[in-house]
Amino acid sequence: MSYLVIRNVSVLIVPESGDCRVDEGQDIHIEDDQITAITATGVTPSAAAQADDGAAAPEAASEVIDGTGLIAVPGLVNSHTHSPMVMMRGAAEDLSIDDWFNQRIWPMEVNLTPERVRVGARLACAEMLLAGVTTFVDHYFHADQIAEAALESGIRADLAPTFFSSTGPEAIEAAIATARDLPTLGPRITSSLGPHATYTVSDEDLRRTADIARAEGFRIHLHAAETEDQTQSSLDRLGVTPMQVLERTGVLDAGALIAHGCGIRDPDLPILERYADRTTVASCPKVYLKLAMGTVTPIKGLQSIGLQVGIGTDGAAVHNTLDVWESLRMVALTQKQREQDAEWMNVSDTLRLATRGGAAAAGLADQVGALEPGRQADLALVDLSGPHCQPVHDARAALVYSVRSSDVVTVLVAGQVVVRDRQLTTMNLDEVLADAKDLAHTLVDLSKGGAVQHYAP
Ligand SMILES: [Zn+2]
Repeated sequence: MSYLVIRNVSVLIVPESGDCRVDEGQDIHIEDDQITAITATGVTPSAAAQADDGAAAPEAASEVIDGTGLIAVPGLVNSHTHSPMVMMRGAAEDLSIDDWFNQRIWPMEVNLTPERVRVGARLACAEMLLAGVTTFVDHYFHADQIAEAALESGIRADLAPTFFSSTGPEAIEAAIATARDLPTLGPRITSSLGPHATYTVSDEDLRRTADIARAEGFRIHLHAAETEDQTQSSLDRLGVTPMQVLERTGVLDAGALIAHGCGIRDPDLPILERYADRTTVASCPKVYLKLAMGTVTPIKGLQSIGLQVGIGTDGAAVHNTLDVWESLRMVALTQKQREQDAEWMNVSDTLRLATRGGAAAAGLADQVGALEPGRQADLALVDLSGPHCQPVHDARAALVYSVRSSDVVTVLVAGQVVVRDRQLTTMNLDEVLADAKDLAHTLVDLSKGGAVQHYAP
């Protein structure tokens, strides 16, 4: 057993509801992959819990990390992304959503190979870990390669192998088979089923996916009601909203992570409420602003019916970063604007979405997302001493509105130090960057023609 202590650190406590708080001068005790105790600094866990059941704490830590001057936060969760799309960063700018898909992204994706996906996923894992993102919830092709990159880097991931109906039953079967295999590849990897969207996967295929999900205990991660236009188009073509499609095909019953949901309408809320215990929504507002999608996720309505909401970046081909600090700031700002209410989406609620909300979106609600004994030791130590954060009247406000991903100093996932003093411990960053640079041009090459899909929701 390994026993690690983070000594004399401030700790961000994110409760299930109400205000977050910062406890100063704490020691975080970590045995193997779990937090076992958080005590005042210098106090041993056994002394802190006099009426303990007798389980003796180890005498001496095998490693002590000095947390003086730092704040420990639950590792952030990127609740919806397509990690290998970092390879297309900046290659599809200033385009409408139709042209972004049809002129650039889906034509570029004919170039996907296992190697290119793996090189992209390694870059993505490096970027996320260095920014304090300890879990990502992914939706992409060649997910076995993404799992290998995640395992190498030490990050935690829930991976959904993507499929369209247009690629035929064999491709769907292969994606589902990959989802079955992924958790066997190593620790910290879970999987979900990944139909692309309600407008690219038929009702029949969604129904079959939901049947498999229910029978085998998978959740379903997909795009739905991404824009108000998509919802209107679904009503015009089918007479039902995307949420009604998800209900009638059994996807909601199986348990779904819905990416975006900006087009969810008030009449959809009573439908979603029936599945509130197993439905989460990921909001990625930088994408909605950049693609001029018209509106952002109606988080207030979703929370009013008991849904958990997480924060994501979506792919870097539109978001340009996998920086969840940037995304959570965008959530706070766009939600205040959407509701025309400066008191809505306060700093505590924003931090809760990026941590506990993300944990729910990843299907890990009881395991990560908060710094508490019994949870996985997934955390980031953040330095608020930079001029852009000082003076700190309220560390929670600094975390939401001032901090930069480069202020993340040390990161642990499942008790393993994966970033130490702003350096990856698991991968050679120079090599990761060089490999990505070597291959990036092959991903964005449009000379072959064709496309993996056509966007016409
Ligand atoms: Zn997406």
